[in-house]
Amino acid sequence: MTTTTATRVLVLNSGSSSVKYQLLDMRDDSRLAVGLVERIGEETSRLVHTPLNREGAEQRERTGPIADHEAALKAVADELAADGLGLDSPELAAIGHRVVHGGLRFTAPTVVDEEVLAEIERLVPVAPLHNPANITGIRTARALRPDLPQIAVFDTAFHTTMPESAARYAIDTEVADAHRIRRYGFHGTSHAYVSRETARLLGKAPEDVNVIVLHLGNGASASAVRGGVCVDTSMGLTPLEGLVMGTRSGDIDPAVAFHLQRVAGMSADDVDVLLNKKSGLIGLCGDNDMREIRRRIDEGDERAQLAFDIYIHRLKKYIGAYYAVLGRVDAIAFTAGVGENAAPVRQAAVAGLEELGLALDSELNEVRSGEPRIVSTPYARVAVAVVPTDEELEIARQTIALAAPNSLD
Ligand code: AMP
Repeated sequence: MTTTTATRVLVLNSGSSSVKYQLLDMRDDSRLAVGLVERIGEETSRLVHTPLNREGAEQRERTGPIADHEAALKAVADELAADGLGLDSPELAAIGHRVVHGGLRFTAPTVVDEEVLAEIERLVPVAPLHNPANITGIRTARALRPDLPQIAVFDTAFHTTMPESAARYAIDTEVADAHRIRRYGFHGTSHAYVSRETARLLGKAPEDVNVIVLHLGNGASASAVRGGVCVDTSMGLTPLEGLVMGTRSGDIDPAVAFHLQRVAGMSADDVDVLLNKKSGLIGLCGDNDMREIRRRIDEGDERAQLAFDIYIHRLKKYIGAYYAVLGRVDAIAFTAGVGENAAPVRQAAVAGLEELGLALDSELNEVRSGEPRIVSTPYARVAVAVVPTDEELEIARQTIALAAPNSLD
């Protein structure tokens, strides 16, 4: 008799109106299927499913109303089943869920039960946009496969090692504690993965390497990682703090918010929308896509140039700050959409920092590749690395390690 070893993990990233998913086989980290459902709850919902488990299989797309997350996940399950990858397969070991906010309690991936769900729910006031959708995704997946381990992997977990000196805001301690106000940080799965991959690229153990990770996507954050342990990160109570982002302001004098409420008649919600959705690059120049901004700069557009300069100025400040926090830096790693692809951003961010041991090889920096690579000159004291992030793989690895630790032996 042959027994099937469960080595597959379904990774779900549930947003308020979307679900992204990947099915991986952890024997070789391969993708069996990837896809997304978007505009859930609208008439124009869309499911795009790409099977990768056989040669020549084509991407499929469905449009038409998908009422809620339950309907979305059922539709995903149908698509997977059509490729022989159904959720009822004995090879499926677990479902890994991205959960944005794990507060202070969740420092590691966690098997979901009712008590864990209740705690994620208790964190909704500090993550009102994200945690409710994550909870819905988990509940729906549990209803479909109640017998299967559901693992929550938290965006904040990697940052829970930050010392209190970095994690606390300098505000009244009682108020802060009563309302759980502190710096949590986000993108933790990416910072964990990229800092580890950077050590590998340098041929060293993570414990022996200090890295500044710059996750520059539409959302952006920096982290200072000492010997594999996060000691500071740029996002705070919410993802608004820190770097200039696609649509978020990043660091700003909090008095701007009071001023706008008192003087411009804006409500707290108006200011929230302004700073999260209408600021950053889009607020500065009308575009949040770095490709478009570079194109406009090449045509001599001054607003686009100023937006780029402000973005780079902030990035440089964080590189300097985290250099000081770490004391010794072995590598700076660029990742995510902008960090992996925008050579001019990398070039401008480290320009003039030769005294800090940073020197780019401009030819290497221009090379386009999906592989992790070093783009600094061989004699530079600090390596500059481009390391493609892979949050789904990291979630899947953490999920199988917890749900079925012996399945890969
Ligand atoms: P992410 O949030 O990691 O998916 O990153 C999305 C962002 O990456 C987009 O808003 C673009 O600004 C940026 N991006 C993607 N490809 C390129 C590219 N080839 N050059 C510059 N920026 C890019």
